[in-house]
Amino acid sequence: MRTAHRVLVGDAHPAIMFVSDHGSRITHLPVTRYRARVKTVTAFIALGSNLDDPAAHVARGIDDLGSVPRTVVKRVSSLYRSAPVGFRDQPDFINAVAQVATRLGPRPLLEALLEIERRHGRMRGVPNGPRTLDLDLVLYGDLVLHEPGLTVPHPRMHERAFVIVPLAEIAPHRLVPGCGRVSRLLAQIDAGGVTRLAGV
Ligand code: ADP
Ligand code: MG
Repeated sequence: MRTAHRVLVGDAHPAIMFVSDHGSRITHLPVTRYRARVKTVTAFIALGSNLDDPAAHVARGIDDLGSVPRTVVKRVSSLYRSAPVGFRDQPDFINAVAQVATRLGPRPLLEALLEIERRHGRMRGVPNGPRTLDLDLVLYGDLVLHEPGLTVPHPRMHERAFVIVPLAEIAPHRLVPGCGRVSRLLAQIDAGGVTRLAGV
């Protein structure tokens, strides 16, 4: 056992369980006591847009992250252009990743991200379809969480070059629970469809 991951369990009496890489339980804390202990957590947020001046939506989305309570933007990647994945008949995306230091729990942080999406006029249509602004909570410290409506690390991050490439620019050594370092994910992925925008 080298590392322990935090896993949220239970609805009626939610608790944080610390488990080893081999799945054995190490300790168990009620969420209320865990929250009281949460100081500042490093989280990573992926931004993407392909409608109505996408670069401006991403830039404003990063500004909006700066207004999320108890949260400070620490680093922002360059902007990248990426070819659409899945549903191909749509404009290219502009993507970036931001690193924040937050004292919000993962659920309030996601709620803040969804609120920013709404303010940018986000409508949910075709899966992987066009969007004014998509904000995904990619990593929240070393937390592993599977809840309805919130999975962390983001379940598709390791296969999305438009997340891994900007993330690797700002945090190549960061460990992704269950996947190793970001740099390793970058080496395994086809990053051909993702290009850095010059001058940003
Ligand atoms: P995607 O970003 O995968 O293309 P959407 O933006 O349409 O898909 O997200 C659909 C739902 O995914 C959101 O309503 C949100 O509740 C859920 N979700 C689950 N985990 C996450 C996460 N880590 N970050 C953002 N959304 C998430
Ligand atoms: Mg999303």
